[in-house]
Amino acid sequence: ADNKIWKSPYPNIAIPDNVPFVHYLLQEFKQYGDQVAMIDAVNDKHSYTYNELIDAVTKVASALTKQGMKKGDVCVIYSPNIPEYPIIYMAVAAIGGIVSAANPVYTSEELLYQLDHSGATMLVTVPMFADKAREAAKNYGKIKQMIVFGESEGFQPFSQLMDDDRSAYTENIEIDTNNDLLALPYSSGTTGLPKGVMLSHYNIISNIEQLRQPYMMGYDNETFLGVLPFFHIYGQVVVLFTGLICGSKIVTMPKFDPQVYLNSIEKHRATMLHIIPPLVLFLTQSPEVHDIDISTVNDVFCAAAPLGKTLAEDFTVKMKCDRLRQGYGLTETSPVTHCNPKENWVISSIGVPVPNTDAKIVDVETGEKLGPNQDGELCVRGPQVMKGYLKNKEATDKTIIDGWLHTGDIARFADDGHTYIVDRLKELIKYKGFQVAPAELEDLLVKHPSIADAAVIGIPDERAGELPRAYVVLNPGQDMDPDEVASYIEQKVAPTKKLRGGVEIVSEIPKSASGKILRRFLKANYLNKV
Ligand code: AMP
Repeated sequence: ADNKIWKSPYPNIAIPDNVPFVHYLLQEFKQYGDQVAMIDAVNDKHSYTYNELIDAVTKVASALTKQGMKKGDVCVIYSPNIPEYPIIYMAVAAIGGIVSAANPVYTSEELLYQLDHSGATMLVTVPMFADKAREAAKNYGKIKQMIVFGESEGFQPFSQLMDDDRSAYTENIEIDTNNDLLALPYSSGTTGLPKGVMLSHYNIISNIEQLRQPYMMGYDNETFLGVLPFFHIYGQVVVLFTGLICGSKIVTMPKFDPQVYLNSIEKHRATMLHIIPPLVLFLTQSPEVHDIDISTVNDVFCAAAPLGKTLAEDFTVKMKCDRLRQGYGLTETSPVTHCNPKENWVISSIGVPVPNTDAKIVDVETGEKLGPNQDGELCVRGPQVMKGYLKNKEATDKTIIDGWLHTGDIARFADDGHTYIVDRLKELIKYKGFQVAPAELEDLLVKHPSIADAAVIGIPDERAGELPRAYVVLNPGQDMDPDEVASYIEQKVAPTKKLRGGVEIVSEIPKSASGKILRRFLKANYLNKV
């Protein structure tokens, strides 16, 4: 055996490889019958039991089929978290369609990029975001089905699909679970613009199986708050679908509202929280936490960005809950590769590889495998690793090498058997867990007539994790102040990508001999000055 490959400490599990995603879920939903599956945090009447989910998925799949939707068609879901989210998702998947979920706060141009790149033919939204969706669909020109939860001009109401008689629903659609795609989320990966991450039915089923083991996530009759966005792979797989297969009750919130969030913990008697580091900070600092009954919460799972040890420890005291478990993963790995087990967790570690998953840590310069207690790039291998980036073989080949996915994160495998994230090697910035791709902002910056060159880096921030900061070189004779640069970007991007870390006008962007922006140099310089 190779002593520099760290296998999961758990025996391999059998992963069903010939059952499509929706059959896999529906056959398990039956046992939960009239238990509540999805419920809106504020409106108790807006809910679905497991039986109602089964009924709704088959009706909607039938209706979509009659309207001409076929296997391989791409549906972009551009919606916040609502109880219907899994219904439309599963209905599309039942037909063999591919779900590409988008952040509902995206601007119409950002949405257009995803519609166009994914080749979508169906778009689903809510009335609040219908204007942006309509505009993107118009500019794109290839959407055949536009659906809205509620009512909005130019969209078919979702309720009409729910009236279907199910006559066109069939379980006989041939799905090659290893090759046919189920989901196409967007991620910038280690470098460049957002890319379509090709996840097969088997990829996502694998991750659900890996997570649902009693020793791993160990969901057991839980009530969750569904506040982490379902468009992001963490909310989609770890909260929504792994939650549902285990019979959980998921209380949805379309956005994070501190009061609704806290009230919901008490009102719905949440047993487990899924959070990200900014929420750990919020809960630790919020005085209102003392006013609510949090005694039902006995498990907290945190992922998506680095979590500080001191903050984590303060959190457990404040919440009177010792079990704060970190997990780790990427959109490219469906997402989880490492997780702290239900028992024997270590608060500042990302845990151990989930079953059927191997990890290695390699020297950043030489690529050689490193031993314990040495820092290097974390690479992972397992059934949850994506098939590749859509229409981008070059990026795929740089990311998956000899079957190992290179994460772009610096990690250390410690003597205690746990893995620790040390740093991020890749250029990706995470603002409150949301991806910000520097290349995307740099592209927009250099499109401005006054701007000659630009670089964007992430600077540390206690609340958000990181903030995007731009360095800008102006064209000769041009005069633009930092605020103008920031507001130019603000008009073009989702609020999560705003240049909150500031803008600096410089005479030159530091670059390597091969023309790569020296981001580490810019960051070190910034940190030296503050
Ligand atoms: P995403 O594809 O949006 O899920 O982003 C994946 C990236 O988030 C990883 O490559 C890490 O850089 C970061 N990340 C996820 N989980 C953790 C964690 N527990 N600790 C530190 N960074 C994390």
